[in-house]
Amino acid sequence: MRKKIVAGNWKMNKSFEEGLALASEIVNFYKDEVHSDVEAVLIPPFIHLVSVGRLLDHPHVQLGAQNCHQEVSGAYTGEVSAAMLSSAGAQYVILGHSERRQYFGEEEGLLAKKIRTALAAGLKPIYCVGETKEEREDNRHFDVIESQVEGALSVFSAEELKTLVIAYEPVWAIGTGLTASPEQAQEVHAFIRNLLEKRFGASFSQLVPILYGGSVNPTNAAELFSKRDIDGGLVGGASLKSRDFINIIQSFV
Ligand code: PEP
Repeated sequence: MRKKIVAGNWKMNKSFEEGLALASEIVNFYKDEVHSDVEAVLIPPFIHLVSVGRLLDHPHVQLGAQNCHQEVSGAYTGEVSAAMLSSAGAQYVILGHSERRQYFGEEEGLLAKKIRTALAAGLKPIYCVGETKEEREDNRHFDVIESQVEGALSVFSAEELKTLVIAYEPVWAIGTGLTASPEQAQEVHAFIRNLLEKRFGASFSQLVPILYGGSVNPTNAAELFSKRDIDGGLVGGASLKSRDFINIIQSFV
């Protein structure tokens, strides 16, 4: 049985007070209404991590960060290390989000280093992959995803990656209101699982949660989550409203 995860990526949104209010609402809703073992991961901006983390007094509501630096420590002004995140209470870290790839030039070599540093600090990486609109239109999406998966993960052993989570996030679906159809998403998730099986073996591939991300909302989540290889969601916009986020979690049957 793979873990089911719904992670909320707040991106660069919410003031301190708004972030605390959102986190408390989610925890309260979760306690009152969620009777499954779906894991919720709240992923606020760095500066809110400690304060949000203190509110998360439910074993299935966890804390994550949106990025970390690839080096362990040192003279990197303005950066945040994996060990700092871990000591601030984060269990997860998103790496390779398409916004980091697009606006900060992050690519597989760097992301492999970040994954290594995150693992060494005890963080569970949520490694994001996904094709652009042009790449899908040119029917290159499988090649792109293969090179993103292989490029960052092939330097690791299965043992090293035992806490890995992958998020398939087609870039054309992020923040656009366009969602991959459940069939399109399932096809890519099965493809990713097959890549993991070829490189790391069947038992490993069956254990890695693969989340779908791209305009997930309370209306489309149930159908996406009903697919065999979709183990949850990485949610942006809809994670900023507690009711929507909880309804997405409740979409698991
Ligand atoms: C994301 O940022 O990872 C994301 C999927 O955003 P949205 O849900 O808003 O498309």
